[in-house]
Amino acid sequence: MQQITEIFPLLKEPRSIVIVMHQKPDADAMGSSLGLYHVLLALGHSVSVISPTSWADWLKWMQGAEVVIDYELNGALANEVLEKAEWIFCLDFNTLMRTRKMAEPIARSGATRILIDHHQQPQEEMFAYGISDTSKSSTSEMIFDFIIASGNADKIHEAVAECLYAGVMTDTGSFRFPSASASVHRMVAILKDTGMDHSRIHEHLFDNFLENRLRFTGHALLNRMEIFYEYNAALICIPWKDLVKYQIRTGDTEGLVNFPLTIQGIKFAALIIDRDEEIKCSFRSKGAFDVNLYARKYFEGGGHRNAAGGRSSESLEQTAQRFRSSLKENALQLQ
Ligand code: 5GP
Ligand code: MN
Repeated sequence: MQQITEIFPLLKEPRSIVIVMHQKPDADAMGSSLGLYHVLLALGHSVSVISPTSWADWLKWMQGAEVVIDYELNGALANEVLEKAEWIFCLDFNTLMRTRKMAEPIARSGATRILIDHHQQPQEEMFAYGISDTSKSSTSEMIFDFIIASGNADKIHEAVAECLYAGVMTDTGSFRFPSASASVHRMVAILKDTGMDHSRIHEHLFDNFLENRLRFTGHALLNRMEIFYEYNAALICIPWKDLVKYQIRTGDTEGLVNFPLTIQGIKFAALIIDRDEEIKCSFRSKGAFDVNLYARKYFEGGGHRNAAGGRSSESLEQTAQRFRSSLKENALQLQ
């Protein structure tokens, strides 16, 4: 993988470009993709944005979200633009597996693949150019750096600022995680200077749910949460029937895994959800316990040191049992 700076001179010539994010995109995946989309459009490129799957309703306010192609819904159109693409930007993921059914067409494509991402252990051989930096708060911050370093600071208008702000704000837990560095705050100052209304973005992302989601959260915390004080850990385990009963949709479970960490002493939280097609796991930690390594070892996943995900092909109860046994094996690290 060559340095990302190598493509700066190549940005001058108009090209067919596709931007791809990870499946079930969060605000960082969608925000970084749309932020880059607006800038590449302004530079005269022809640009399409593809998500491997659907995304949450609370991301739909972002300018440009209306043109994002859902690969599951519109595979034929997506494959058509992928085939024409000269460049494919891969944002907020670093292994093609994270794009689900798109992994194969992306791998097969003759286009130049470019990586911009902040997760651990990138599949570097799959990318011609790129930057992978786990010290970065978010892919949105990396897109900001990319825009500035490539000499396009003048392209950061309000729509770009809103998209990037949403990504960096959510990936830093509203600027509370250690990754919210001084340069993150300096970037936010520049985004604010475009006229961006940050309060409105917080409302879009956090005050825009339906009643059922809040009722579901209450149910999950009351009836589905186990605390393991001897391991400073907690588990929330959601059966499929709960998702049906509360009419849970994409994005409605986002943030649920963080609640147990608000309990004194709890440093490791897991959320295991039976999504019918697969068992999806989310892990969060505070401090030294590395959930990226943990998710890789026990649940075919990965991510960051303090936020990671994975999956299981066992039943929900077997998966929960695997989690409970893993606590014993990690007793020392969890002290
Ligand atoms: P979440 O729990 O919100 O799904 O994911 C937490 C973090 O881990 C995100 O940064 C996400 O991109 C990453 N992640 C989630 N699932 C996986 C996975 O299966 N593999 C890898 N490598 N990363 C994941
Ligand atoms: Mn991210």
